[in-house]
Amino acid sequence: MSLSDDLYRETILDHYHEPRNHGVIDVPTTTVEGVNPLCGDELTLYLNVSADGKIEDIKMTAHGCSINTASGSMMSEAIYGQSVERAREIIETFKEMMLTKGDTEALGGDLEDLEALRGVKKYPVRIKCALLPWNTLLEGLDNVKKASV
Ligand code: ZN
Repeated sequence: MSLSDDLYRETILDHYHEPRNHGVIDVPTTTVEGVNPLCGDELTLYLNVSADGKIEDIKMTAHGCSINTASGSMMSEAIYGQSVERAREIIETFKEMMLTKGDTEALGGDLEDLEALRGVKKYPVRIKCALLPWNTLLEGLDNVKKASV
C-alpha cells in the first residue's frame, strides 16, 4: 500500500467519524431522501436555497457505510455557500472523476479532499456508495428549480 492510500483512508475515516453538516434543517427549501439498496445506505438531505440561487445551508443525516457517510460529508463542505450553478459544476466533475478518469483539478485547489474518494474506484461496488449523496443532491437542486418556476 502506498503512502497516499493511507492518507486517503485517513481523510475518509475522519469524515466518517465526524461528519460535517450533520443534522436537520427545521424549515428547509427542500428535503430529499436517497437509498442505495445494494449496500443499505440511506440518507436524508436538507437544503436551504436563497431566492437568488445560493445554497445557504445544507444538512444531512446518513445511515450507511463509511464511504457513503464520508462522501456526503465532503460534499456538504464542497457545496456549502456556493451558487446552485457552481454546485452543479462540482457534482458533474466529481461524478466524472468517479465514473471515468477525470480529477477535481479543474475546480481549483479547495476541493482536494474529494480526491480521497478516488481510491474507492478500485472497488466498483462501492462507487454507488460514494455517488449516492451527489445524486441525491442533484435531485434536490432539481426540486428547487421546479418549485421556483
Ligand atoms: Zn455503502
